[in-house]
Amino acid sequence: MNQEPTVSARLGPPERQAALARMAAEVFDVVVVGGGVTGAGTALDAATRGLSVALVEATDFAAGTSSRSSKLIHGGLRYLEQLNFTLVREALKERGLLLTRLAPHLVRPVSFLYPLRHRYWERFYVGAGVLLYDTMGGAKALPRHRHLSRPAALRLAPGLRPDALVGAVRYYDGQVDDARHTLITARTAARYGAVLATSVRATGFLRDGELVTGVRVRDLESGGDLEVRGRQVVSATGVWTDELTAQVGGGEYRVRMSKGIHFTVPADRIRSGTGLILRTEKSVLFVIPWGRHWIVGTTDTDWELDRAEPAATQADVDYLLDHVNRVLADPLGPGDVESVYVGLRPLLAAGSASTAQLSREHAVFRPAPGLVAVAGGKYTTYRVMAKDAVDEVAKGLQTETGQPVPASVTAETPLLGADGYQAAWNRRARTAADTGLDVAQVERLLHRHGSAVDEVLSLVAERPELAEPLSGAEEYLAAEAVYAASHEGALHLDDVLVRRTRIAIEAADRGLAAANPVSRHLAAVLGWTEDQRLREVETYRSRVQAERAAETQPDDQSANTARRQAPDVRAVHPDTAA
Ligand SMILES: Cc1cc2nc3c(=O)[nH]c(=O)nc-3n(C[C@H](O)[C@H](O)[C@H](O)COP(=O)(O)OP(=O)(O)OC[C@H]3O[C@@H](n4cnc5c(N)ncnc54)[C@H](O)[C@@H]3O)c2cc1C
Repeated sequence: MNQEPTVSARLGPPERQAALARMAAEVFDVVVVGGGVTGAGTALDAATRGLSVALVEATDFAAGTSSRSSKLIHGGLRYLEQLNFTLVREALKERGLLLTRLAPHLVRPVSFLYPLRHRYWERFYVGAGVLLYDTMGGAKALPRHRHLSRPAALRLAPGLRPDALVGAVRYYDGQVDDARHTLITARTAARYGAVLATSVRATGFLRDGELVTGVRVRDLESGGDLEVRGRQVVSATGVWTDELTAQVGGGEYRVRMSKGIHFTVPADRIRSGTGLILRTEKSVLFVIPWGRHWIVGTTDTDWELDRAEPAATQADVDYLLDHVNRVLADPLGPGDVESVYVGLRPLLAAGSASTAQLSREHAVFRPAPGLVAVAGGKYTTYRVMAKDAVDEVAKGLQTETGQPVPASVTAETPLLGADGYQAAWNRRARTAADTGLDVAQVERLLHRHGSAVDEVLSLVAERPELAEPLSGAEEYLAAEAVYAASHEGALHLDDVLVRRTRIAIEAADRGLAAANPVSRHLAAVLGWTEDQRLREVETYRSRVQAERAAETQPDDQSANTARRQAPDVRAVHPDTAA
């Protein structure tokens, strides 16, 4: 085993080249396939135990489900109803860790109002559940819940129809920008020595007889193939798990896909000082504050079509509109919807008819010697999933080398930007004065970068023009686009518009106006020709067009066909079709 020194967390073009060269040359203790939150967490867990780690991600960090969630770090109030106390307790413990120690810059409190429709029993029933929820998670990281009368609830959420509630309960949970959290987990793994590369797809396993000894991969940027050798391989591929395990004859578990869509509407379309949680026939629906917007979601339907870019239908959007309008005094119309995003839940197949009833718990299993698969679970519990996967890896390594592997230390390992965050927050007015930025801008940057904001600010110090707002997405600074490519591993325009920033879900035009200016900043860092730059903008434009076309379709099949009209920017290279 290699004990790597602490190294830079920078993931720019030179670091990618260096990572690929190392991947071709070394034998790693662990090769992780998949750069969603589970894979990034696994790389971090393994690296901080002193193992040598390589991670390959086919698209971009968090490009799968991990950028498409409800963005809640929560125990899941509704699992209490299913009496799944172990799951809720575990998730609440993780919520506390993330809020206080691991990622206080990224995970923040959010409150929800639970409108009550029945006078006595429901207040007792919901109140008891929320009381349990507040007390199960260990040390208190969030304010306790409160019971509200109808007038008090309406003062807090005047946009609710007065006849939609007889009173309410307000409680707190955690909220995160999922794509940024996954990226920062990956960068933290890099800081502890993990070698990571995106746009690198595992196309098959290397075998020595039955034993899996690594993965064959294709660099989707150059079209080149290489072999990455590892003593143990981990598949953390979410809804792609079956695709990978099929290559070794399948695994003990299968992963089934359930589609969930969200849409965003402008903040002024729902007058409320808190998020909302509403009961539906099958599950719950959230109205979640997101900057100058609300995120409304989600749905839960089986999906068996495209994994990479699942599509929303008109029926999905109508379902959300219908349910949220039941409580709103001023109903939303289709014209209020700014953007729609779609994710696939990786659910362990349990033979149940309804995906809403399937467990969110995860499994770690060995489809072949040398190969560990980790799947299922939920965003909130990624650290536990990663720990369990690396515990299984450790058994394999110990058998091979006779050396015990240290226990997981990720519960004590703050993510990049967490160390010194509180001091940076306290100094924010000074930072604003020193840099000439608004305090609100500094606060926003701190919530995205934590104490690593200094790296962004030093770009601004070198090139003051980067303090300008990004044209087409004025909330962001030009420096953030540059930093996304120079430090955060962005390789394409949609990496920046969809995941490094959230312009794709925040701008009413889904990022079309920002595409050109952002692409110019990226071109300078990534060395694009003018033709490449224009192709990136054009590909992004067709992506938005295809999404919008899908959202007018009546069913999954036609929406999928419409969505697939847009080319995948990583498949545009003539040599890269896997
Ligand atoms: C609508 C919805 C709402 C949700 N809301 C919440 C919530 O509020 N809170 C919560 O805790 N959880 C939530 N979840 C669940 C949570 O988002 C997922 O459990 C989690 O993101 C799964 O992460 P993952 O890393 O396992 O999978 P993914 O994020 O999908 O990562 C898998 C990665 O593997 C890569 N990959 C696949 N094949 C290959 C290959 N051959 N080579 C290289 N890379 C490959 C993919 O590109 C992908 O990036 C929600 C899920 C959905 C769908």
